[in-house]
Amino acid sequence: MRIITVIGARPQFVKAAVVSRAIRQKALLGADIQESILHTGQHYDYNMSDLFFSQLDIPAPEWHLDCGNDTVKMKAAILPILRAGQPDIVLVYGDTYSTLAGAEAAHELAIPVAHIEAGLRSFNDAMPEEYNRIATDRIASWLFCPTTTAVENLRREGISRGVYHTGDVMYDAALAFTPDEAAQRQIILSYGLEPKTFALTTVHRASTAENTEALTSIIAALAQVGMPVLWPVHPHTRKTIERTRSLQQALRKAPMIQLIEPVGYTAMLALERQARLIITDSGGIQKEAFFQHTPCVTLRDESEWVETLKAGWNRLAGTDTERILQAVRMPFEPQPIDEYGSGHSAEQIIDILCHIKS
Ligand code: UDP
Repeated sequence: MRIITVIGARPQFVKAAVVSRAIRQKALLGADIQESILHTGQHYDYNMSDLFFSQLDIPAPEWHLDCGNDTVKMKAAILPILRAGQPDIVLVYGDTYSTLAGAEAAHELAIPVAHIEAGLRSFNDAMPEEYNRIATDRIASWLFCPTTTAVENLRREGISRGVYHTGDVMYDAALAFTPDEAAQRQIILSYGLEPKTFALTTVHRASTAENTEALTSIIAALAQVGMPVLWPVHPHTRKTIERTRSLQQALRKAPMIQLIEPVGYTAMLALERQARLIITDSGGIQKEAFFQHTPCVTLRDESEWVETLKAGWNRLAGTDTERILQAVRMPFEPQPIDEYGSGHSAEQIIDILCHIKS
């Protein structure tokens, strides 16, 4: 079985790391399975892309495109590669432009698509990610759902064939790559921080990262959370800050907020584990907060990861300063969540694909 995996954005590298490893292990055990990676170039900075390939031992991409965020351009560039490669399966992850471009190109050539992290819904149609997910799920022949809610979302849309609840490959990744306690301490010390005394923040969604008003309001809240804030800044957000003097002034007046470049995945997991609180608009980090036993305030009005909300690990706060501060200050009383699998989701997915194709 020949798989072409289409990836292009940071969260996809994390997911692909564990699935790619499962494919190689299966091949070592004698299974007829082989993967080639196509990188769309959606994320291209060293610490948003290459660092993940080297640190997480992801095989080098066989094709590396340069398509930015343009799905049409991506699809046009992917088509001839798939046409020449004629894989048995195209594998895509999550909800980015690369996901949809890979799925659409495969669909056009009648190559079956496997979608990992299928069935998630925010029910916010303004999010490009929501469109990408829904369209990819319509195309996919095999839909690997991280949660029972995702399975139910698909069922409500009339999709039940080829749907599997396999758990979350990001849980596999967190288990595989979280550094030990001593290494975690070293990492936070390098930022001058003490264990469980700081907040970790990320902001990257278009609706916030490119929105000066939302960023102003978030920074005002971060300045008042009453603890140091470490903020690995996404390139989109950095661009907005760099062209907006008022944001720079607000940050200068808030020395407790430490802006740093995006960090590698293992450092990120260490920061998440050692933080007292995570404040983010990221999808993946909301869950990683739970994996690392750290409460999370989400800078959005909805979440795809509803279990984290129900169990009290995560709280929605939008981007309003007062709402964020209220969410930060209210005590968290979280309950366990039994949803994301046992850390072997990637192997399960590859077993299923091998079984179907044999
Ligand atoms: N991440 C990272 N370094 C950073 C910020 C995030 O390694 O500086 C990781 C994070 O741990 C998670 C993934 O990137 O695994 C989440 O990606 P992002 O927030 O960009 O996307 P989303 O999950 O919202 O799709």
